[in-house]
This record gives sequence, C-alpha cells and structure tokens, in this order.
Amino acid sequence: MKVHNFSAGPCILPQEVFEKAAQAVLNLDNSGLSILEISHRSEAFLAIMDEARALVLELMELDTKEYEVLFLQGGASMEFLRVPYNLLAEHQTATYLDTGNWASLAIAEARAFGTVAIVGSSKNKNYNYIPKDYAIPEDATYFHCTSNNTIYGTQIHDFPETKVPVICDMSSDIFSRKLDFTTFDLIYAGAQKNTGPAGVTLVVVKKEILGKSGRNIPNILDYQKHIAAKSMYNTPPVFAIYTSLLNLQWLKNKGGILAIEALNKEKAALLYAEIDRNPLFKGTANNADRSLMNVTFVLNDAGQTEKFAEICEDKGISGIVGHRSVGGYRASLYNALPKESVQALVNAMQELEK
Ligand SMILES: *Cc1c(COP(=O)(O)O)cnc(C)c1O
Repeated sequence: MKVHNFSAGPCILPQEVFEKAAQAVLNLDNSGLSILEISHRSEAFLAIMDEARALVLELMELDTKEYEVLFLQGGASMEFLRVPYNLLAEHQTATYLDTGNWASLAIAEARAFGTVAIVGSSKNKNYNYIPKDYAIPEDATYFHCTSNNTIYGTQIHDFPETKVPVICDMSSDIFSRKLDFTTFDLIYAGAQKNTGPAGVTLVVVKKEILGKSGRNIPNILDYQKHIAAKSMYNTPPVFAIYTSLLNLQWLKNKGGILAIEALNKEKAALLYAEIDRNPLFKGTANNADRSLMNVTFVLNDAGQTEKFAEICEDKGISGIVGHRSVGGYRASLYNALPKESVQALVNAMQELEK
C-alpha cells in the first residue's frame, strides 16, 4: 500500500531523490566508489559542493558576489547560537519576533550575547497567529524572525520593511514559495524539512554583515572561517549535502520555486477547504496566518479520535499527529508531498463524516 507521509521533519523527499541517493551509496556516478567512502576533498565531492552552493543562489535569485552559501552542522538550533555569536556585540540590542517554540529557543541563545528586545509575540494565544503592527527600532543590530512556525501552522505572509539586517529561520518553508530573498541578510534552515535529509544546515548569508561585532569568535562558530574554507573547515556531512543537491536539482527540473509554490498553494487550499467545510474539524491557526506547509487542525469531538486514526491507517496516512505542545493534527505538505496524498487525507476526513 502507498504510504502518504505527512511527517513534519525529517520528512518526505521525492521518490526519485531516494532512488538516486540509494544508487550513489552503491556506486557514485559509475566511479566504482560509494558517496559514503569518497574524500570530501576529492574532485567528485568538490563538484557536488560547488553545484549545491550555486544552485541554492540560482533558485533564490541571489547575487553570487554578495551572498555566500554554507552547509554546516548542528541543525537550525546551532544557528540560534551562531547568529548572535557572530552578529551581536554585548552593548548592542537585537530584535526578535516571538512566534513559537523555535523562536523562543533562538531568543534564549541570543540573550547570552547581548540585549534582546522582543518586538512582538503571540505567546498569549499559544502562538496561533503572527503578530502585526510591531516596530523595529532603527538602531537595532538585527531583526530575527521565523518564516514558518512548524508546530503551530502559522506563516509570515508579509515581512516587515526595515533598514536593519533581517535574519530568518526558514527551516520549514525554504524553497516552498517565491520571496524577494534579497531583503534577507542571513537565512538558515535545518535541511530535514524542505531541503534534504537531516544532518546538514543551510546558511545563506550576505557577506557584508559579517565581521562587525568585534567579538572573538571560536573558529568552528565563525561564519567567516566557514566561508573561507568553503564549508570544509572540518569534514562536511557529505551524504546529506549530496542528497540535498539531488533534491534541489529535482526542484529546478520541476520549474523552480514559482512552479512548486503554485502546487503548494493548491495542496494547502484543498486541505483548508475541507477543514472549513467538514463540521467535525476545525483549524487551529488564525486564518490570515495559515501556513502552506504545516496545516494544524483538531477534531471538535475528541471522542472521534480513535475512529479517525483507524480510517487514516486504512488509507496509509502517516505522520499527522500534532506536536505534543499543541495536540490535534498537523499535516505537513512539503514540496515533495504529492497532491494525491492531500486528497487521500481529505477522503479520510469525509469518510469519518459519513
Ligand atoms: C525543526 C525546526 C528547527 C530545529 O531544527 P534542528 O535542525 O532540529 O535544530 C528550528 N526552526 C524551525 C522553524 C524548525 O521547524
């Protein structure tokens, strides 16, 4: 039976990416060697790294002279720390938008390095909306936001206009929709949600914002050191980078970000329409802030939980249980999830209604 994988992360990747990655484990491009056993300094891997870095900038339409692409380790969580370590001096103030658990963890790390001003928070409603109408002081060192709140199913649809550098955790919606990426100064994303497998973090940084904090930064945490070493300061996660490259190639062949955005909008519209129509269910995120990637909803009558679980299991629907802090359901509709999978979930919801 086909399994429809709605997991929030690590998550579904295209079948063709799984197949190519599996092939490369056995024999990379007919070299007679596995991707797992070649040197990260080999010509074959250097070509993979170069292509991956170039493709990220191409898909995002970013200038190769202004921006650098890094493949690092430690997950998005490491960037919660690396960002203030590199950018925030002790006497400075960084501004943060508090839109959920991940944002709060980023805030907690920044507090170790300088002053943090929370310019907006939706904590009062368990993060079910995106704060609006907040002001970012012009003398702030940077503004940090989370573009998509994986746990709560909210997404920033309008980014604030500001002159201060904008830092964005795009872990769960990077490459899913067209944005003017030139308005961001540093973007980071744990790969396991829309970029590739777990084990690598993508960082895209505008070089001119670096080297200004005056802080003495340990090498392994210093973005400039990683840039100088072309993401090879230490052994990079070769397989995760290779598989991410395969996924980005798949995306490019699909028509790039604009094409996938159109499909993502169709998938989300299909599911939200059913949530709003079906009297048994209701959405948990504020309508205007609904995410195209993570759709959160609950049963109005918790007594139906078991029955719905049975129907879902019958239909091969996997990974829709909501995050433990929110409960209910969360269907993650990342780039690789086919529309048929969303239709299968809608069918399950309609079957429960009958
Ligand atoms: C999953 C997630 C993280 C944490 O990523 P790790 O790679 O596990 O550290 C951070 N931010 C967002 C928005 C996420 O969805």
